[in-house]
Amino acid sequence: MALIVQKYGGTSVASLDHIRKVAMNVNINREKGNQVVLVVSAMGDQTDQLIAMASEITSSPSLREQDALLATGEQVCAALLAMTLESMGHKAKSYTGSQLPLMTDNVHTKARIVDLPTGTLLQALSEGVIPVIAGFQGAAEDGSITTLGRGGSDTTAVALAAKLEADYCEIYTDVDGVYTADPNICPRALHIKKMSYQEMLELAGLGAKVMHVRSVELAQKYQVPLVVKSTFKGNKQTWIINEEGVMENSIIKGVTLEKDVSKVSLIRIPDRPGIAHQILAPLAEAAINVDMIIQNVSIDNYADLTFTIPTTDLGKASELVNQVAREIGALEVRANNNIVKVSAVGIGIKTNPGVAARMFKALSAENINIQMISTSEYRISCVIEEKYGELAVRAVHHTFGLDEPKEPAPSE
Ligand code: ADP
Ligand code: ASP
Ligand code: MG
Repeated sequence: MALIVQKYGGTSVASLDHIRKVAMNVNINREKGNQVVLVVSAMGDQTDQLIAMASEITSSPSLREQDALLATGEQVCAALLAMTLESMGHKAKSYTGSQLPLMTDNVHTKARIVDLPTGTLLQALSEGVIPVIAGFQGAAEDGSITTLGRGGSDTTAVALAAKLEADYCEIYTDVDGVYTADPNICPRALHIKKMSYQEMLELAGLGAKVMHVRSVELAQKYQVPLVVKSTFKGNKQTWIINEEGVMENSIIKGVTLEKDVSKVSLIRIPDRPGIAHQILAPLAEAAINVDMIIQNVSIDNYADLTFTIPTTDLGKASELVNQVAREIGALEVRANNNIVKVSAVGIGIKTNPGVAARMFKALSAENINIQMISTSEYRISCVIEEKYGELAVRAVHHTFGLDEPKEPAPSE
């Protein structure tokens, strides 16, 4: 008998009909003699709707209250799925993050898990109850509700699988596995049957939202095998496991598009030691993750500094940066959320000169202007205008030969 943690994403539970189909899937697993622990997201785009509702009240809601609001989406879904399972004759119980309790730090909207006792769940399992957990949420030490960041239900599921020492964790979503690019953007992307945690981490960290990046970190740390599969279509799947370089040995493994990116520029800042620290330290203190940073060559001892941050942090970051800009006498602060980041990801970049040039050529052939570039040993990222994002993914994917299988596609 296997113990399986199954996570069902928003599209898999978008309506009562979908929830019934999920319950049937759970039923099949139970009939096979497996024990299951379920984790659910909010139904459909409920999280977006709740965010939109909050923004009608204020442009900067208290993050504590935003978390309290968003956590309700998953709570509704967990209760409805537990009821559905009960109506089919199973014993089932829903749990919110606070009820487990899944304990987190107090960084609202992007909290990190600090403890996850399993006593409640083990008790339920021993009584033959199917636990249905509201994903994405936890509780801080002061009792307030926290959330783990967008897409965080994956992380709830993997954390539970790790703590319960489950045989594996299934991520049910609206695509039948991980591809070399988002198949909804790049129809000729290749399906990946098996990949390493490291490979998935690189793709997820640069925008492949099929897995929440922190869930992959946890899976790697605790050696939880992951399976990504579709709830309703196809029979393909992707295993994410502990094996190095399991994907085909190509220079580029995948192409990603990160949409949650904004650019902040400080124009004409004094070019002296300590200025970059003065600008960026308040952002670090506010747990805002600064990604690409560019400072141009100084003229007359003045320079411009541009950096990227998640769009979700743009309001807070602008507030902090404007304050520093006044203190240091910068001429102007410009914010732009009309951008995206396209990345080519692959360990081959380090050893293959000319990879960056190939990517730039593919973008220029489509007349796409590159606003910022950053490279590391395993990725090349370009910031471009938002409207060209999808076109850029297809162009880069094509230029690295990813959409043409080298041999006939193996049958699944
Ligand atoms: P869920 O609500 O089930 O968590 P998500 O929307 O978070 O689903 O993730 C699934 C989506 O991830 C897919 O619909 C697809 O558009 C997107 N995606 C991005 N990159 C990839 C990729 N490389 N492979 C598969 N899907 C990807
Ligand atoms: N419902 C949350 C979101 O939309 C969490 C999740 O689905 O994983 O981001
Ligand atoms: Mg998701």
